[in-house]
Amino acid sequence: MAEFAPRPVVISGPSGTGKSTLIKKLMDDYKEYFGFSISHTTRKARPGEEDGKDYHFTTRDEMEAAIDRGEFVETAEYSGNLYGTSKKAVEDVLEQKKICILDIDMQGVKSVKQTNLKPRYIFIRPPDMEALEDRLKGRKTESEESLQKRLHSAIEELEYGQTGAYDVTIINDNLEIAYEELKGFLSQDIAELKKEKYRKR
Ligand code: ADP
Ligand code: 5GP
Repeated sequence: MAEFAPRPVVISGPSGTGKSTLIKKLMDDYKEYFGFSISHTTRKARPGEEDGKDYHFTTRDEMEAAIDRGEFVETAEYSGNLYGTSKKAVEDVLEQKKICILDIDMQGVKSVKQTNLKPRYIFIRPPDMEALEDRLKGRKTESEESLQKRLHSAIEELEYGQTGAYDVTIINDNLEIAYEELKGFLSQDIAELKKEKYRKR
């Protein structure tokens, strides 16, 4: 019988739409089932972010050298910084036989579609641009310049979200409702993994 391999899940959507919040809830509730693909980034860590947990914080020189060595599944330039998913980040989660969650931007989604990762694609959108701006401002993590870049990118991301590139779109207006929708969409995958874990006991 073929080895059981849970399908990864890509979660994408404009910056500030609530991806990290939803992912954190999911990982807290289902520790045994989901593993986060820890991306690399050249941006500075925000207060509370941990190196090696939220991201691998790195320099552009180091990251470009690693890209040249073929260590990345995909990379993207976003808001003046380089972001990327290393092969190791995904392998580490797959080895644990968990569902690998990738939080990546639209460029990353396009790149992943060219690989054999075959994930499910989830788009998280805000109720409207006003709410998105309020959330980004409320998070107090962005400079005015970074805020504007993120809002600018959001327009393109929202357009791409309507092209049929994603398996599901979840509107994160009320957080609890959005979270229920996310869990609902992933319920089959969670159930299959649960069954597999039970079978292996
Ligand atoms: P992303 O990871 O998509 O950039 P975050 O998860 O950091 O977004 O969320 C951005 C901000 O919006 C955070 O301060 C978060 O607490 C807040 N937020 C998330 N979801 C909601 C929601 N449904 N309603 C109001 N605020 C929200
Ligand atoms: P932030 O700086 O807010 O953490 O992330 C900015 C954007 O980069 C978000 O849209 C996030 O999904 C995306 N991102 C984070 N890690 C990666 C990655 O490894 N690859 C790509 N392509 N985008 C990423």
